[in-house]
Amino acid sequence: MKIGGKTRLLALLGSPVSHSLSPGMHNAAFSFLGLDYVYLAFETSEDGLERAVEGLRAFGARGFNLTMPHKEAVLPLLDEISPEARMIGSVNTVSNEDGRLVGYNTDGIGFVRDLRERGVPVKGARVVMAGAGGAARSVAVQLALDGVSEIVLLNRTLEKARSITEAIRKHIPGCEARAEELGGERLGRSLARADIFINSTTLGMHPDEDRSVLSDPGALRPGLAVADFIYNPRKTKLLAMAERAGCRAFNGLGMLLYQGAEAFRIWTGREMPVDRVRREVFPDL
Ligand code: NAP
Repeated sequence: MKIGGKTRLLALLGSPVSHSLSPGMHNAAFSFLGLDYVYLAFETSEDGLERAVEGLRAFGARGFNLTMPHKEAVLPLLDEISPEARMIGSVNTVSNEDGRLVGYNTDGIGFVRDLRERGVPVKGARVVMAGAGGAARSVAVQLALDGVSEIVLLNRTLEKARSITEAIRKHIPGCEARAEELGGERLGRSLARADIFINSTTLGMHPDEDRSVLSDPGALRPGLAVADFIYNPRKTKLLAMAERAGCRAFNGLGMLLYQGAEAFRIWTGREMPVDRVRREVFPDL
């Protein structure tokens, strides 16, 4: 990569960002295609977000990504928000269109593309999702937009699951959406009629690798696709259980790759060479 006077800046704003895989992914893709961009991660506190966004606008940065804890806080700082991101209520990608900052959310698009690339049918599918945080919201809304027939959202804090299912019922009435409290036998029971099970909770993430949102593997069966948003560790306890039960099981690296690919397309107008990025940046994907 050669940095010169015309190199365009892309950035990640969040806290923490030092372990992010996004700089490696985007810079590799720029280099593969010979594009004159550089992507840097900036540790940004909640107090510093507004100044960071105005700084990037003043520098004429091509755009930026947002990660925790800024995906919702950035909304009032933008000039325009895509209808999907507005429905989701958070933004992870911003494009600077000649000084106008336009917000998108590519997390859900990335997750659904990963399902499709793996040959998991989406249209008409019945989905069970554990967790109702920010990432769950974008994926649940995108799955509903892409035609799943049913989503059951189970969360420790019932109110958060309800707020997502209410948004889906209001905007995407073709999808049946139901919220339940996570706990007891409810998850196992819901899985009995599911095609896709998604863990969007942080349970099982490093350093709590011995935890799993599902305790009884009896609810898992061949034919069920099990997706974990977590990619550290690559194989969570849940995914190991799912594989032993004969399910198709996959971690969150595909979601990460394809949400990045969609942001890359928005910023550069080019398709990210995902196969090469996968091979050379995420060899264990
Ligand atoms: P978040 O907004 O903080 O949501 C966390 C979720 O985990 C909430 O539903 C929370 O429930 C639940 N949870 C946390 N501790 C729990 C416990 N002890 N018991 C039951 N539930 C618990 O986080 P997020 O941004 O949505 O991220 C969620 C996960 O997805 C993280 O592991 C993150 O690394 C991963 N992620 C992956 C990608 C990717 O590209 N692969 C992208 C974004 C996020 P409450 O609502 O009750 O607190």
